[in-house]
Amino acid sequence: MRNGIKEDWPFKRISVIVPCYNEEESLPILYDEICKVSEKLDAYRFEIVLINDGSSDRTIEIMRKLAKEDERIHYISFSRNFGKESAMLAGLRESKGDYVAILDADMQDPPGILPQMLEILENEECQYDVVATRRVDRKGEPLIRSFFARCFYKLMNRMSETEIVDGARDFRLMRRKVVDAILSVGEYNRFSKGIFSWVGFPTKWLEYENKERVAGETKWSFWKLFLYSISGIIDFSTKPLAMASLTGTFFCVLAFVMMIFVIIRTVIWGDPVAGWPSLVCIILFTSGIQLFSIGILGQYLSRTYMEAKHRPSYLIRETEKDLLSWKDENTDAE
Ligand code: UDP
Ligand code: MG
Repeated sequence: MRNGIKEDWPFKRISVIVPCYNEEESLPILYDEICKVSEKLDAYRFEIVLINDGSSDRTIEIMRKLAKEDERIHYISFSRNFGKESAMLAGLRESKGDYVAILDADMQDPPGILPQMLEILENEECQYDVVATRRVDRKGEPLIRSFFARCFYKLMNRMSETEIVDGARDFRLMRRKVVDAILSVGEYNRFSKGIFSWVGFPTKWLEYENKERVAGETKWSFWKLFLYSISGIIDFSTKPLAMASLTGTFFCVLAFVMMIFVIIRTVIWGDPVAGWPSLVCIILFTSGIQLFSIGILGQYLSRTYMEAKHRPSYLIRETEKDLLSWKDENTDAE
């Protein structure tokens, strides 16, 4: 028994978690693909956990329909859009499988490679606990986005002790103990790429070429990605704080040296009033540095503030259990 659910001994269970935000076109295609994979892996019991992250299209209706037709489907529908991180957290909490996979709804994470991933976990003498994926190219992505993404990975890995693999996707298959470890990280500000790396466990990396979305549009604007990368750095490193202190120290030393220089110059050459423009430049520059440092401090403070509030990461509006109770109510009424 786990979480009150009887395990289908001797079958092992695989949970597939799919965060969905306005995926009405992609979801049916993905579902068909998962069904094909589950037919191939008939020695396992499948559980498909769909998370509707406050979609404004017909995603929830598709989920209801699928849940009515296929009892392997569980769905959770949020009260509003909480973001992919919250959707993944909800999926991980809901999943009961011995193996748990997370994949995107848009087929950019091909379910077809799940058997290969499973084989690695099952057969390679339990050498690995996680099979993760990374894309080796960024085909189909705007050049400027790829450029900034590369800069982010370089900066992140320099700043933080938690290594983030360039091109790592959230698509991964994990053993139950890894999922439990991830769930034990109780942060509100969740940067999953960092958490996955932070919990450790031997990981095998599979590489594949970038695939374009099967339908719909990416939900990540450039600005959203920029903020996401900032939160990645702040959540997994305190180096920006140290850098602010170092910059402050550097300017103190510089000011001291300049002071000595000015005193000596005044004693030797007198004090002609000059250097006004350079003074303005120096004031602007140093106040800029000060504001920047306060900004860094503010980032940490705001995150501490959000953590201290202990707000839930998401709120659930509906699950497939509601569907059953509605059905019961309707049958009672008849
Ligand atoms: N997603 C989500 N909530 C959001 C944004 C995205 O659940 O607020 C889901 C989305 O439906 C998809 C996955 O996260 O299944 C990845 O999103 P997307 O394909 O837009 O990201 P990209 O592949 O472009 O990085
Ligand atoms: Mg995508």
